[in-house]
Amino acid sequence: MAPARSRFDSLHVAVIGAGAAGLVAARELRRESHSVVVFERDTQVGGLWVYTPHNEPDPLSLDPNRNIVHSSVYDSLRTNLPRECMGYRDFPFVPRPEDGESRDPRRYPSHREVLAYLQDFAREFKLEEMVRFETEVVRVEPEGRKWKIRSRNSDGISDDEIFDSVVVCNGHYTEPRVAHVPGIDSWPGKQVHSHNYRVPDPYKDQVVVVIGNFASGSDISRDITGVAKEVHIASRSNPSETYQKLPGSNNLWLHSMIESTHEDGSVVFKNGKVVQADTIVHCTGYKYHFPFLNTNGYITVEDNCVGPLYKHVFPPALAPGLSFIGLPWMVKSLSFILLSSSFFSKWVAAVLSGRVTLPSEDKMIVDVTALYAKRDANGLPKRYTHRLGASQVAYLNWIAEQIDAPPVERWRGEEIEGGYRRLATESDTFRDKWDDDHLIAEAYEDFLRQKLISVVPSQFLQSR
Ligand SMILES: Cc1cc2nc3c(=O)[nH]c(=O)nc-3n(C[C@H](O)[C@H](O)[C@H](O)COP(=O)(O)OP(=O)(O)OC[C@H]3O[C@@H](n4cnc5c(N)ncnc54)[C@H](O)[C@@H]3O)c2cc1C
Repeated sequence: MAPARSRFDSLHVAVIGAGAAGLVAARELRRESHSVVVFERDTQVGGLWVYTPHNEPDPLSLDPNRNIVHSSVYDSLRTNLPRECMGYRDFPFVPRPEDGESRDPRRYPSHREVLAYLQDFAREFKLEEMVRFETEVVRVEPEGRKWKIRSRNSDGISDDEIFDSVVVCNGHYTEPRVAHVPGIDSWPGKQVHSHNYRVPDPYKDQVVVVIGNFASGSDISRDITGVAKEVHIASRSNPSETYQKLPGSNNLWLHSMIESTHEDGSVVFKNGKVVQADTIVHCTGYKYHFPFLNTNGYITVEDNCVGPLYKHVFPPALAPGLSFIGLPWMVKSLSFILLSSSFFSKWVAAVLSGRVTLPSEDKMIVDVTALYAKRDANGLPKRYTHRLGASQVAYLNWIAEQIDAPPVERWRGEEIEGGYRRLATESDTFRDKWDDDHLIAEAYEDFLRQKLISVVPSQFLQSR
């Protein structure tokens, strides 16, 4: 899209959340000369990656008035993407010579390394000076052509402020979705959602059924096998006859979905197998949730479809004053928010300054309607609206075009594709065994050429 004006606007912009998306949004907005306030209800930056051993008292997180614990990270979590393709575009997520011994140089590092990286990013670009910590946004509503934000600080004091624009980066992995399991109301065992899973110890000697077999489901079931008597994975994407002992442990089975549960504690799978289970762990994903947003019903969340949103970012009638960063996901609820939010943030910042224009409201609506029509024609439920699947790189490249940025690097696209393929097919080994050393070499060559790093870390030298 063509640049719109030669003099650009500098707006007063509120960003909600100082996680991976909010941090890069704040940086890009400031680079575009906007004045930025980031509201963050936690005491530090990092969002999801701020691990806490605490979980919510309601193990399924169904109570709307519960005390919310933001993070869904479990103690053993390592990234599900290779680090070099996961990071922000011009601040690679790579081991650096100045890193101390406490850092984790592995290609798929632990969650602590991701938090350290986000803290490095915030420090490098002095982002914390824009953040109001321990300040929760409780209401966002249009006020004429501007936006009113009500926030509440840790002393319970509320404040109303007016902003030209609001960028929503509140994260999408805190409000659990729970599977419907026939008979569950009279089943006597315990249930927990992966949002509240931290360590395997509570499952010692138990028979555990894990619902869901991707990313968290696969990780958590393997985490539990070390202490549990038996672990049974139920997956709705498996054919009904599925029954398989999984490699890598002697007490882990893969089944089709649960058929029913019963008062005597039994869990019956669609394959006919029956187990007496102590606990069901729901690794069944999350819901988009914007409890603070009041747009008089213009923006709705229906079966995890947030809309209407042009290109998953701008609500046509409220654009560009309101935008959302981090909604699209790739497959099976996996996302690549660090990388993608680098693109979204530049786009939002440039649209707000007027350097880049959006189509008319009508044209944006036509685009959203076409997206919904394609989804429906493919027989996909609404909750797949923000799923990019195979079109992820094309989508990011479309945004890159709007902001005059280079397209996604070839090595990065291939790493993301290959990374997900390995995750799906080699879930017990993908973090320590791979066959794309040539892509690692290309990535580091690229970082060196762009002077984003000065040396290639020694553990990756053999790849070059
Ligand atoms: C278990 C798990 C593993 C993952 N692994 C990977 C991975 O390996 N690689 C990858 O790229 N992605 C991964 N992801 C995706 C992950 O969500 C992103 O990496 C990224 O952390 C999301 O960033 P975000 O800024 O959108 O949200 P968050 O990190 O959740 O940050 C949102 C922030 O908003 C704040 N906030 C929320 N509401 C309010 C409010 N009302 N007022 C003020 N502040 C508020 C929160 O406190 C938080 O700090 C994983 C997700 C999960 C759940």
